Amino acid sequence: MAEPEPERAPVVIADTPSAAETMRQCRYCCGSIARAAKVCQICGRHQSAFWQHFRIEQVGILVSVIMMSIAFAQLREARSERVAASEAVTRAQRAERNVVALNNALREQFLLVAELTWLQVETKNEFGTARANLAIQEILKDLNAILPQVLPDPAQRKRWVEALEKRLSPRK
Ligand SMILES: [Zn+2]
Repeated sequence: MAEPEPERAPVVIADTPSAAETMRQCRYCCGSIARAAKVCQICGRHQSAFWQHFRIEQVGILVSVIMMSIAFAQLREARSERVAASEAVTRAQRAERNVVALNNALREQFLLVAELTWLQVETKNEFGTARANLAIQEILKDLNAILPQVLPDPAQRKRWVEALEKRLSPRK
């Protein structure tokens, strides 16, 4: 009785992948490159759809250009903001000067009114005396000082004086 033939181990054929499996075409120069390659070793182009348009050494330049553009845009924005801020400061300073000037004018006018009121009250029972005559001169001087401040237009001032004079009945 013949011994059964021992089972033979299956022949292992070395799995050598074909060129079609390991290689592919560069999407830029169509050269044959390794399938796993990210950059073509012939033309130096990246194999991704976007970066293929740039050589690997150009990518650094591109990034620099983009960063520089952003920096310039930010610089321009910062400069225009600074200009707007300085305009606002100038406007605020002008407004402050106007308020101070107006306040000074009002204070001066009040002091003049207080002065002439005091002169009238002080001499109200001294009609015809030297003190009363002096007070009247001072009052008229104060009025001549205060009126042009309040009514700078001479024609308007004349109309105001005439209207005031009409309030008294004419001298007999
Ligand atoms: Zn290539």
